[in-house]
Amino acid sequence: MTSTTRTVAVKLSEVCRFFGDVKAVDHVNLELFDGEFFSLLGPSGSGKTTCLRLIAGFEQPTSGSIQLHGVEVSGVPPYDRDVNTVFQDYALFPHMNVGQNIGYGLMVKNVPKAERETRVQDMLDLVRLPGMANRKPSQLSGGQRQRVALARALINHPRVLLLDEPLGALDLKLRQEMQIELKSIQQRIGITFVFVTHDQEEALTMSDRIAVFNLGKIEQIGTPSEIYERPTTRFVAGFVGTSNILSGKIAEILTGSPGTFAIRPEKIRIVDVGAPLADGMCSAEGKIRDVIYLGMHTRYLVELEGGADLTVVEQNLETSAVNARGSRVKLVWHTSSNRPISAGA
Ligand code: ATP
Repeated sequence: MTSTTRTVAVKLSEVCRFFGDVKAVDHVNLELFDGEFFSLLGPSGSGKTTCLRLIAGFEQPTSGSIQLHGVEVSGVPPYDRDVNTVFQDYALFPHMNVGQNIGYGLMVKNVPKAERETRVQDMLDLVRLPGMANRKPSQLSGGQRQRVALARALINHPRVLLLDEPLGALDLKLRQEMQIELKSIQQRIGITFVFVTHDQEEALTMSDRIAVFNLGKIEQIGTPSEIYERPTTRFVAGFVGTSNILSGKIAEILTGSPGTFAIRPEKIRIVDVGAPLADGMCSAEGKIRDVIYLGMHTRYLVELEGGADLTVVEQNLETSAVNARGSRVKLVWHTSSNRPISAGA
């Protein structure tokens, strides 16, 4: 489907939010579609949370326009927007049990008890916590609390769910399980998720599209593979995965073109110095300066004759780890792996 045929759920046009001299959100333009899993990715302080809070209505823009399903919402309070938020610290009511926490939004709206109980039960099933309604939040694990917070946010059927680093407090294994779980819940219910994270792997795993934030601005918007395979700026190339950045004379010598290029370390192969070069390949000779064994793969730092260093990552297909430090090698990669990027910082 193209953007012209999809319903726009959230639209930010030239949105700014300044706190004194701090440009937390600086002329941001975004269009999120119904049913999308959309991530706001960036380092700490890049403006992701402020952007989410602007959509939620907890913050008002300094300038610009915010629309939810085509309706301008600047000035509309959070409770009058068809969105709900899941926070990193879950914000569960400690004195209420799980069922009461999940049903809270329905109680406030005076939904009759019988209907409330049915809908709480549906939510418990959705987040895979059947039989837990009478537990207190303190009697749950971190992952279970996170599911309760999710159920509580979903019970009112918001059209857009905002999630602010919801997996941040979980350990890595549980975090990875919850990533898959969250994505599967989102696909089942089909509503728009706007997900804030500073974890690039998490964003790549879960999202339909990602906006990469830096210093309050969006550097690039794209699908996970577009962001990873075709970064358009130096910042994105370095923040999402790792990249070798080549510019100036060495870039021209190695790639045959002037400009600035990003090359992913796993696209480069290490071969013997005398190995022939196939058509469409670039090559460089150098000496292996460092070898870092990382279990699944090994990272090599290769000092090129032209002065630059290239990082190469090779999968450890063989069990024997050869210490190649100091060896002279040839590096080869396909010309299509030279991704032109803007030269800025
Ligand atoms: P993190 O991942 O650490 O939460 P973030 O990308 O979500 O970071 P924001 O929380 O949006 O970043 O903050 C963006 C910038 O705005 C930061 O420099 C922050 O210090 C500043 N900021 C945010 N809220 C306020 C506030 N209420 N008053 C003053 N400055 C603020």
